[in-house]
Amino acid sequence: TKVIVGLGSCGIAAGANKVYNKFKELKEADNLDFELAKTSCIGMCFREPLVEVVDENGSMIYGDVDEEKAIDIIQQHVLGHNPIKEYVVKTDQFETPDQTYFDGQVKIALRNCGYIDPENIHEYEARGGYQALKKLAHESITPEQVIQTIIDSGLRGRGGGGFPTGMKWRFARANQSDEKYIICNADEGDPGAFMDRSLLEGDPHAVIEGMIIGAYAIGANQGVIYCRAEYPLAIKRLNIALDQAREHGYLGKNIMGIQGFNLDIYIKEGAGAFVCGEETALMASIEGKRGMPSKRPPFPAEKGLWQRPSNINNVETFANVPYIVANGPESYNKYGTEKSKGTKVFALTGKIKHGGLVEVPMGTPLRDIIYKLGGGIQNDKKFKAVQLGGPSGGCIPEHLIDIQVDYEQVNATGAIMGSGGMVVMDETTCMVDVARFFLDFTQKESCGKCTFCRIGTKRMLEILTRITEGEGQEGDIEKLEELALQVKESSLCGLGQTAPNPVLTTIKYFRHEYEAHIRDKK
Ligand code: SF4
Repeated sequence: TKVIVGLGSCGIAAGANKVYNKFKELKEADNLDFELAKTSCIGMCFREPLVEVVDENGSMIYGDVDEEKAIDIIQQHVLGHNPIKEYVVKTDQFETPDQTYFDGQVKIALRNCGYIDPENIHEYEARGGYQALKKLAHESITPEQVIQTIIDSGLRGRGGGGFPTGMKWRFARANQSDEKYIICNADEGDPGAFMDRSLLEGDPHAVIEGMIIGAYAIGANQGVIYCRAEYPLAIKRLNIALDQAREHGYLGKNIMGIQGFNLDIYIKEGAGAFVCGEETALMASIEGKRGMPSKRPPFPAEKGLWQRPSNINNVETFANVPYIVANGPESYNKYGTEKSKGTKVFALTGKIKHGGLVEVPMGTPLRDIIYKLGGGIQNDKKFKAVQLGGPSGGCIPEHLIDIQVDYEQVNATGAIMGSGGMVVMDETTCMVDVARFFLDFTQKESCGKCTFCRIGTKRMLEILTRITEGEGQEGDIEKLEELALQVKESSLCGLGQTAPNPVLTTIKYFRHEYEAHIRDKK
């Protein structure tokens, strides 16, 4: 019998370390015959701490486990072979009330999260890990063939931009240089987003293998993971995984016997600036400069880090790559819509019953994500809107809940897919407050380079603040709209270009709330 405790940040925050220690104490005190193991988050953050018991009958995952329940699990299930059905949140053996959380999910990027010990490379390998890399060597697959596979899969950048990954790799490959860089953007900073953190904590080798394959495809010999310092557990597990990858010959010289394929990867910790998620600012930060965006062209594929050709993808993008290379592009592009292929990971937060991480095929109706997987709205209140794409995104109101979530349909609403954070709001939420919250965030995070982003967002925030404080004036909404357009059009980087989105979408869909604040002076 194996007892596995979920020790992602979400589990630890809910008390999983205490639970793990309880199991350890019980095992050692009576020299009990079961294996105690660790994993990371399986996505059900709303039920943490989670504990899985695997025995001859299969698997059962218990939710909301505390030290007392740990004792019950040992006595009744592990020793008594009598599972405690009322604690079970997931099993193949019977239906649980939380089962709907998994219905409709397709786990590709998250395929190993919650199933393996992320600090044990053998567990990653046992589930097919590093098979894609080995396939490159054993089947003499050329870099061009790898790029074509990624193009055929339809994979688009999961950091928010949605640019075709294979095309990006092709541009980077086309630029000759003795030094090239492959960079992983793990500077996840959107309020409400934790997809990258969970992936890095739960399956760091998938991201590393994706980077190694990317390096082979573009001809890079150096890799950097730019990870925000606020993710200490992710950084710890990445460092362990990198050491293991070096020991097993997945990093180093002539990797997998491929002559001239040399690569090492190191981690650069970000210092907390949201703008460093922008490619050029991120590279400036790696170089030790202030993290400020610069003009493009030249694009990173031509002159990136240290003026050398570079390619940047985000965590989720890289995590998909080994699966696609190992299983072929059809294994991925059979999911999704015409222009948005594959799956997407979303972080569900806010006023939703099942807060956590889900992975669904592109094109899944928003309604299913909110009501089936997400379980609906807390306290059975009415759904009002969802903020998609963080502070760069926008809100999607209730009457659009039947859109299919893909790049095209989300963009058509005025929001953006972003990296996949979904902050759900109920009928009690003031949408002007929501717009103010997100603009306050981007205003503080503006690097100050462009006048409109620096000062325009400040003026917009002042107007929003006075509206929410009951001091709004006639004409304020029009001023907000005018300023928003100027900020969008006159900003150099994505931060400024998208900062007004929450304001514009809330005015578009909830103008009456702005008007009520101004009219009623409250
Ligand atoms: Fe900096 Fe804003 Fe200009 Fe981007 S748009 S470069 S964050 S001032």
